Amino acid sequence: MTFAIASWPQPAVPIHGSADTFPVRHIYCVGRNYAEHAKEMGGDASKEPPFFFTKAADAILPVVPPAVGRMKYPQATADLHHEIELVVAIGRAGASLDAARALDYVYGYATGLDMTRRDLQNAMREKKRPWDLGKSFAQAAPIAPIHRAADVGHLARGAIRLAVNGTLRQQGDLADMIWDVPHTLAFLSKYYELLPGDLVFTGTPAGVAAVVPGDRLEGSIAGLSPLAVEIAA
Ligand code: MN
Repeated sequence: MTFAIASWPQPAVPIHGSADTFPVRHIYCVGRNYAEHAKEMGGDASKEPPFFFTKAADAILPVVPPAVGRMKYPQATADLHHEIELVVAIGRAGASLDAARALDYVYGYATGLDMTRRDLQNAMREKKRPWDLGKSFAQAAPIAPIHRAADVGHLARGAIRLAVNGTLRQQGDLADMIWDVPHTLAFLSKYYELLPGDLVFTGTPAGVAAVVPGDRLEGSIAGLSPLAVEIAA
């Protein structure tokens, strides 16, 4: 059997210390998972269950240090924002997970950016429409190589930072997450069976702001490969 139109490459993320890559199936994202970011977005999320949105798998932009990724400034926005996030890579299938066992399903972790067309997201939010236009678009998910949990353990604390043109814009600690990784996966897996190849972006600390062509973003999470991206015109 052949495809009726030309097929395309399987989206995949390099794995640190391996020649293998991690094929991407679904991309899930958590909204407002750090209290200070929830406040800057106009709410107090500290007592609410986590909520989720998705990006298309082909929105990933893999970047292997020391290379600097090139993200083309997307169409239809004048307010492209950075959100530095810990990304969880899922290695086993499971639904309705217990938080106490959820980390058994984690393959590894990576530094990622949930790039956001904020003007479109806000317009959709005001009209109670889906966020897709603001969140899922070409190159909306730059990501550094995945580090296997077998190598680095499970990340519950550690600095998460983003600098733009050398100036620190976002700074937090993974321990500041409102819902930690096990509880995030427990909630998410009530709605979807998590499958090998899924990625979960776990939310961003405060300090999100706009970038413009020519800006260089440098993100880091303690213990993981850093992520550098330049915005191209
Ligand atoms: Mn985000």
